[in-house]
Amino acid sequence: MDNQHYLLLTPGPLTTTQTVKEVMLKDWCTWDTDYNDLVQNVRNKLVHLATQNNGNYTSVLMQGSGTFTVEATIGSVLGPNGKLLVCINGAYGNRIAQIADIIGIPTVVCKVEENKPISIEKVEELLQTDPDITHIAAVHCETTTGILNPIQKLTQVAKKYGKITIIDAMSSFGGIEIDVADWQIDFLISSANKCIQGVPGFGFVIAKQSELEKCKGQAHSLSLDLFDQWETMEKQNGKWRFTSPTHVVRAFYQALLELEEEGGVGARQQRYTTNQQLLVRGMKESGFIPFIEEKYQSPIITSFCFPTKEFNFPLFYDYLKKQGFVIYPGKVSQTDTFRIGNIGDVHTEDIKKLTAIISKGVIYQ
Ligand SMILES: *Cc1c(COP(=O)(O)O)cnc(C)c1O
Repeated sequence: MDNQHYLLLTPGPLTTTQTVKEVMLKDWCTWDTDYNDLVQNVRNKLVHLATQNNGNYTSVLMQGSGTFTVEATIGSVLGPNGKLLVCINGAYGNRIAQIADIIGIPTVVCKVEENKPISIEKVEELLQTDPDITHIAAVHCETTTGILNPIQKLTQVAKKYGKITIIDAMSSFGGIEIDVADWQIDFLISSANKCIQGVPGFGFVIAKQSELEKCKGQAHSLSLDLFDQWETMEKQNGKWRFTSPTHVVRAFYQALLELEEEGGVGARQQRYTTNQQLLVRGMKESGFIPFIEEKYQSPIITSFCFPTKEFNFPLFYDYLKKQGFVIYPGKVSQTDTFRIGNIGDVHTEDIKKLTAIISKGVIYQ
């Protein structure tokens, strides 16, 4: 842990490598062609990461945290006659519905318990009863709990009824193998500070170009206009409309190179999976039970139930922080939980060290 005050075991921002941090030590001109070439390179790499069938897809980068990009997508993609079906089993699904609601987009929700994957049967029922629905949105890995939703099954039903698909793959893209063409995803949303392992500052969309081209003039916001942002990047060779997060983009480019060096998304998924399984094994030995059933659990982040009624999370948190690990509070509405993420520059030795520390600690029980 050289140069690090603690290791982040959180779902973003996350622990980045020293080399990703170091490339931010230079300043870049947002108008300069070297910088704009870097942006184009990033956009191109993202499309290649997202699908083998990359001819039909394009990418857009958007300033802000991930939510800004979700809002830009929802607010730009649904036209005046649009109606959105949102699948919800956690806070991030809820947030999509909230965004649509504030914009004034007619919305139908399909909600299930937070410990259950979204229901394809319920979605199909809604599509049969409400032909006005034009778009379906869902979260891939619901970071609220760490549950993985069956996106391929969802998009299959969506396409059977001719709907546009919008997937929040914020916490999974780059850490779980996805092919947007095979998975029939029209708009996939993610951000710089999750599984690509960059620093926070922008989000991005991988879009089916023919669908994005239909979004001209539809946005409900000037700065969050996904089409306009894309058109400017396309026509002006990597230029952003407004000040771009130059250092963050440079760091992201380095993070993409390091993802390639690691062996690509498959290798990263393997590292995350190994670490997640190791974590759960170690935690169970100390009496902590995961909230999500193993068959639905993602390799990204794990929610653990409080072991006893007396369990003192703030004390537990401080105890771990003093030993160099920062974990995350829970976000489940009905049950007391906390979360431990394993995305980022986190390795088997770190997980072993963490679980060894937890097994010794009795002060928080
Ligand atoms: C992180 C995350 C977001 C975006 O959150 P921000 O705090 O705006 O970056 C959206 N959806 C999911 C599933 C996430 O994990």
